[in-house]
Amino acid sequence: MAIVMCDLKGQYDKIKDQIETEINKVLSSTSYINGAQVKNFENSLKEYTGAKHVIACANGTDALQIALMALDLQPGDEVIVPAFTYVASAEVIGLLKLTPVMVDVDYSSFNVTVKNIEKAITPRTKAIIPVHLFGQCCDMEPIMELAKKHNIYVIEDNAQAIGATYTFSNGEKKQTGTIGDIGCTSFFPSKNLGCYGDGGALMTNNDELAQKIRMIANHGQKVKYHHEVIGCNSRLDTIQAAILNVKLKYLNDYSNARYNAAQVYHALLNDVDGVTIPDEMPFSTHVYHQYTLKVKDGKRDMLKKHLEEQGIPSMIYYPLPLQKQNAFKSITIQGEDLDVSELLADSVLSLPIHTEITKEEQVIISNAINEFFKN
Ligand SMILES: *Cc1c(COP(=O)(O)O)cnc(C)c1O
Repeated sequence: MAIVMCDLKGQYDKIKDQIETEINKVLSSTSYINGAQVKNFENSLKEYTGAKHVIACANGTDALQIALMALDLQPGDEVIVPAFTYVASAEVIGLLKLTPVMVDVDYSSFNVTVKNIEKAITPRTKAIIPVHLFGQCCDMEPIMELAKKHNIYVIEDNAQAIGATYTFSNGEKKQTGTIGDIGCTSFFPSKNLGCYGDGGALMTNNDELAQKIRMIANHGQKVKYHHEVIGCNSRLDTIQAAILNVKLKYLNDYSNARYNAAQVYHALLNDVDGVTIPDEMPFSTHVYHQYTLKVKDGKRDMLKKHLEEQGIPSMIYYPLPLQKQNAFKSITIQGEDLDVSELLADSVLSLPIHTEITKEEQVIISNAINEFFKN
């Protein structure tokens, strides 16, 4: 079989019978919206993550938007976000007429640091959106301390790291998405916990925020046809919830499969001079949503082409940092320089990693990388 970035078919084939049974139940129930499976999934995810409240919604971008809407911010309020991330993390800030303030990330972990966040804080800063990029948690303890000191909300963008665990300095462990005031995640098919369409969820331990989030996601109503605030329509449909109920049981297996595949890559690529393998931070487990190399000496695009010629896919997450995106040029306040984000955008290359990848495939991929740097 051809090597693919993410093998959704192989994963589906292993759980096909259970999935189809559950989808068929939804089809014959005709409760396509707000069926019992949605509540069941919210409860299962609550149990899995340890969050006090889980509110399912239509996708991860909506989750971030609803999270910001729940904080009652005013136009022009500043929200700190990493410059090196998927557009959704910052897009929702602009959409709500808030001001994205981009900060640089750490070269080693790809994640924002408390130091860079602190430099960007002003009296107008109202929220921080740390993004747990590629499957590893930001160093949240100092970020939470800083946020508390300045009375700023923290919204975790956990779209890529569901199932990862953060360890505090006192040894306490928490799942990503349950550390900040609100955690947001996505069930896009290729995410670590993916459904077969769009899906997302918010989590919080704050009762008041939970109530507000549920209301906003449901047209701003608590009682049907009585609208308290301007909200939106953002629902996880019942079929997707039924699929997620099956797949959540396998999330730990999926995380382990990705982690083990990463260790295989580490061993195969550690001695290749032209690339730097991903670093694992002591305070977080890594669920390897992506396995992302840094390619030295400006050779990234040439390496990508070399792999392509041998039928090996690879992806650039992300080729442009946010400050270079046309959409953000007019609305962004840029504090410090964003050199690391620019450097990463020019040097990162993500290799195929998924729950079904085999050692044989990883050897083929690694050999091709080795060969490129020998010539
Ligand atoms: C996928 C993703 C999102 C958005 O999720 P959708 O479900 O596609 O809307 C947000 N942030 C990050 C970091 C993501 O990777």
